[in-house]
Amino acid sequence: MLASLAAVAALAAGPPVAPLIVQRFIPFGAQRKAETAAYARRHYGLDTWRLVRPRVIVEHVTVNDSIQATYNTFAPDRPDPELHELPGVCSHFVVGQDGTIVQFVRLSVMCRHTVGLNWTAYGIEHVGRTEADVFRHPRQLAASLALTRWLRCRAHIGVANVIGHAESLSSPYHRERVARLRRQTHSDWQPAAMRRYRAMLTALGGCGTSAASSLAGDTRR
Ligand SMILES: [Zn+2]
Repeated sequence: MLASLAAVAALAAGPPVAPLIVQRFIPFGAQRKAETAAYARRHYGLDTWRLVRPRVIVEHVTVNDSIQATYNTFAPDRPDPELHELPGVCSHFVVGQDGTIVQFVRLSVMCRHTVGLNWTAYGIEHVGRTEADVFRHPRQLAASLALTRWLRCRAHIGVANVIGHAESLSSPYHRERVARLRRQTHSDWQPAAMRRYRAMLTALGGCGTSAASSLAGDTRR
C-alpha cells in the first residue's frame, strides 16, 4: 500500500522526538580521520575530519538488499571503486525496509557520501534498489521521515535543504575544488521523488520552539 500524505500527517504528534536508533559504528580511527581531513583539504579547502554545523541532509538508496550489506560496504577503509579515493565511503545512517534505523558514524564526523556536499551534509541511506522501493515500504518510509525530521530539527536544517543525491548539484551549499568532479552526482532520489518526500516531511510539522536541542556540547551521538 502506498503511504498517503494524510497517513504520514497522522504520525505527527507535536515536536519531533528521537526515533529508535541502533548504534553500530564502523571503524573510524586515527588513520581514517586523517584521510578524511586530507580529503576535505583537497576537495573543500578545509582541514578537518569534523562535520561542523551541517546545513544539508542527503537521502540515498543503498542499491543492495540489507543493512548488513551496507555495513560491509562502509566498514572497510579502502578506496571506493568509482573515484578511487580514500577514506572509504560512508553515510551516517541506514534505514532498513522494516523500519530499523542504524547509525554508522557519529554526527560530529564527516562522511564521504555526496561529492560536493560532504563538508556540510549528513547522509541517510535506504535499503533498496531505487527510491520507489522506499515508497513501497511504509515502515521504512515512516522511519526515514521520523529520522530526517528529528535530525533536521536538531541541526536547524530547513526542509528545502533535505535533498536527494540526484539533486546535489543544485544545492546552494555545493562546492568542489577538483574540476573533474564539479558535475559529478548520482541518480538516487530524483527531484520528483524528493518533492513528494519533502511534502511528507512538511506534513509532519515544524520543529516547534523547544524541540531542537543544540548540537553544541552534545557528544553522545
Ligand atoms: Zn547516493
